Amino acid sequence: MVTGSDGREQVESGKGPSTGLFGEIRKALEGLWSLVVGLGVTGNQFYRPAVTVHYPRQTVENLDTYRGPVELVPSDKDPDTSRCILCGMCAQTCPSGCIEIESHQEEEPEPPEAKPAPAGADAAAGEKKAPPKKKKKIKVMDKYLLKFHLCSLCGQCVQVCPVNALRFSHEVYLAGTSRSDFEFDLLARMRAARRSGGTGSKQAGGGSA
Ligand code: SF4
Ligand code: SF4
Repeated sequence: MVTGSDGREQVESGKGPSTGLFGEIRKALEGLWSLVVGLGVTGNQFYRPAVTVHYPRQTVENLDTYRGPVELVPSDKDPDTSRCILCGMCAQTCPSGCIEIESHQEEEPEPPEAKPAPAGADAAAGEKKAPPKKKKKIKVMDKYLLKFHLCSLCGQCVQVCPVNALRFSHEVYLAGTSRSDFEFDLLARMRAARRSGGTGSKQAGGGSA
């Protein structure tokens, strides 16, 4: 507060109620109240059961709903091959370009019942031998590369697959020091999981398989 040339009291510009001694006291009280509120929140949570675990001394048990990197589902007929029919829809649909599939073509193996009859059997029956059928070519998967470091876990690849050959794994403890540690060959991982007796969905550790 200052006295003007006309003798009237005037409020100095820039020095409102928030400045000066009272302003400083008010700021200090506000800070103190904020501290009390923060300590109240901390104290409130302190005695509640913990929802986190001390990894690696403890691990999470219930991972059923956890979405880890996608994995291939083994075929019911041959668990060393996947259900995948190599349609390529997952790779086309993936918005992040995470998926690359390598395959080759080979002749379809003959079903056991279609194998040729023993020599002389046809002659004995007096039948004419049928001309050999042209063998069908089938695609065989060599590699299913998932670049997990690009994956947003959107689930579109799982949804679009027409034969349910993909699913989310429950791998939560992935760690690595480079991008290549998160480039997975899902076919090799599926086979490795089978050899180790697991499903592959709860494996720990990263790295190309
Ligand atoms: S979950 Fe989404 S981002 Fe990840 S591989 Fe599948 S489609 Fe691509
Ligand atoms: S969409 Fe399914 S069947 Fe088609 S390539 Fe992908 S995993 Fe294989």
